[in-house]
Parts: sequence; structure tokens; C-alpha cells
Amino acid sequence: MKKILIYLLIFKLLGSSLSLKAQLSPETMIRVDVVYLASDDLEGRQTGTVGEAMAADYISERMAKMGLKAKGSEEWFQSFKFNSNPHGGSQLDKVGKNVIGFLDRKAKKTLVIGAHYDHLGYGMAGSLRPDDHSIHNGADDNASGIAALLYLADQLKKEKKLNFNILFIAFSGEEYGLYGSKAFMENPTIPKESIFGMINMDMVGRLNKEKTIAISGTGTATEWKAILESCKMPGFSFNYSDGGIGPSDHTSFYLKDIPVLHFFTGQHQDYHKPSDDSPLVNYDGIWEVSQIIWGVVLKLNAKPVLSFQKTKDENKQQASSFKVTMGLMPDYVYNGEGMRIDAVLENRPAQKAGLLGGDIIIQIGSNPVKDVYQYMEALNKFEKGQETEVTVKRKDEILVKKVVF
Ligand SMILES: [Zn+2]
Repeated sequence: MKKILIYLLIFKLLGSSLSLKAQLSPETMIRVDVVYLASDDLEGRQTGTVGEAMAADYISERMAKMGLKAKGSEEWFQSFKFNSNPHGGSQLDKVGKNVIGFLDRKAKKTLVIGAHYDHLGYGMAGSLRPDDHSIHNGADDNASGIAALLYLADQLKKEKKLNFNILFIAFSGEEYGLYGSKAFMENPTIPKESIFGMINMDMVGRLNKEKTIAISGTGTATEWKAILESCKMPGFSFNYSDGGIGPSDHTSFYLKDIPVLHFFTGQHQDYHKPSDDSPLVNYDGIWEVSQIIWGVVLKLNAKPVLSFQKTKDENKQQASSFKVTMGLMPDYVYNGEGMRIDAVLENRPAQKAGLLGGDIIIQIGSNPVKDVYQYMEALNKFEKGQETEVTVKRKDEILVKKVVF
């Protein structure tokens, strides 16, 4: 905590001048980047606001200082329209902007490394504390991903023998629905054919003691798993999921047949709440995740070939093969017994029954639930309209809730 205050002080003293900060080590800058982006000054970086613009200026200044080339449609920026009202039809009423920097190695191929920098402002749709009207600083989501992106840019620019270019994109409009990444894929600022892979970092700031990293998209290229296994550092465990579709910007690339990976250090109780703030971030963890991704980039450099393959859309499959749903998001990085709920959706059976994010489902009806697979099997046994009892663990309590499907 003390350390963080010192860095914040350094930043405040420097104001907009980046001269002294440039002398800080890249490792220190991880902390500075997160603390600044997640500070109240930026008011939660909601797309289309002054706070978003301040964040965009900061990121572009950092990229410029490193010697990246501006590669947006307007210098560093690529603006796009989006719909700011979740209940207001499809009107594109506001403007947001991506920040894009290019490490140009005059190669034919380009790797995209991306992370979104926007967040929920004072609690827009998507907030799990919408009535608080306090600033959602989004330190893990996703100042952490931007800090990793800037760190990687800083290190990779020193790699003189890269066989491909790298395009670093800080996306906006993610929280409103992947607007920035969709806009980029519709109007890419480099030839789309040259993009041979995309690595996304969304929430990499809460690496746990077990050092579990959830990596999705591993089925989108035949080469990914072997590359990742060779980059695994001792003491880490990787939770793979094959699908290229997920709730973040890599989805926009996968849908255009580009192999993707998404790095994620897991869910936590501060997700999409004002309490997702910089003192809770694992800064060494961001550095470690960055080292692993750096390793992946160097492996690719030795053999820049990725063979795209389509993956089963796990969500779609789930929706079509189940007659009932609970309306919740399972926590895929949870390793314990039972099925931990990541978040419950508005007005769906789980929420109506009083289930909460963080609850661990251990039984549905007479079916014990030991993991997410048993959870799915159990759901398969119910019909729409049927009623059953769901047993959950909430902290030290065991609760039984009535669910109507
Ligand atoms: Zn995010």
C-alpha cells in the first residue's frame, strides 16, 4: 500500500511530463500504469467520456516514447461509433477510440497483441453495483492488461530479430460490447491478410497463489498447446479452453478466422464493482504473465506458422443442447469441489432464486455437483417450468434455494 502511494506521488509530481518516468524500469512501469489508469482522475474510463480520452492520451504517449509508430486511422487513434444505451435500440449515438501502435519490422506478417482499456465509469450497464454511482476504477479489468501490453511493447521492441511485425492495440468500447475490436476488424489499419495471430489480455492482475492462468482459444490453432506447454514456467498451471468465442476482444479476431489466445488470471469478488482497485492487484503476477506471453512471442518468432481451426462454440452448444438454463456464468478457473458461480444474470432462474456470484453449487435436486461438468449433466435432467432445490455453499454456510427453470 505504501509503495503504491509513492508511485502515485511520483506520477502526480510529474504531471503530464513523461521524461522522468521513462527512466523507471519497465517492471516499475507496470505499477505506475495500473495505478494511473485506475486512479479516480480517470473516472472509470467509460467509453466516450473525458476519462477515456485521458487514458487514450496516456497510452499513446507511452507508445510514442517507446518508439512505436502511430497506426490508427487518426494518428494513434481509431475512432468508432457505438450505442451507449443498452435499452435504446441500435442507434450509434456516441464515439469511442482505440489506441494503436506498430512495431514495424518490415515483415509480411503481423501479430496483434491487444487489451481493452475502457471500463464502467460510475457504474454503467454491466456493473454489479449499479446503484452505488461510485467510480469503477477497473484495476484488474483491465488496467492490468494494458500494463502488460505496454510492458511487452517495451521489451519486444528490443528484440532485433523479429520475423514479424507486432501491432499493439488498446481497445475501447469493450464493456459496451466489443465495439472497438469489431471496428478494427471492419476497418483494419494494416492489411487484414497479414495478421496471423492475436493475443488478448483481459484481467491479468489477480494471479493467485496457485499461479493458475486461464488461457482460452487454445483450439483455434493446432500449434497453440505445444507452444504454451513449452513456455510454462515451473509452479504455474494453465487451464486451457479451446473455444475462440468468449466475452472479450479476441472474439472479434476469431470470427474473422484468425488464431487467438486469451490470457486471464481468474474471477474474483470485486469483478465489475468499485472495489476492483489497484491495491488489490498482484503486480508481480502481471510481470509473470507478461514473461509467459513474451515466451510465446519468441516461440512464434522461431516458427511463425499458425494453422487456424474453427472451435466448437461452447456457449452456443450449451444453449442448444440444454432444455433449461440457470442464467449464470460458471467460474472456469475455480479448482475446488463444486461449481462456483462467477456472476448471475438479471431476471434469470439463478438470480430469482437468490443465488449470488461466489456461491458454490454442490447439489441440484438429488444430483451432487463436484465440478462444472457434473453441473451441466445435472441441468440436462430438467425440463422448462420444473422446480428443484439447489444447494450452495456461501462462505461457511450451506444454503438450500428453490429454483424454477
Ligand atoms: Zn474486461
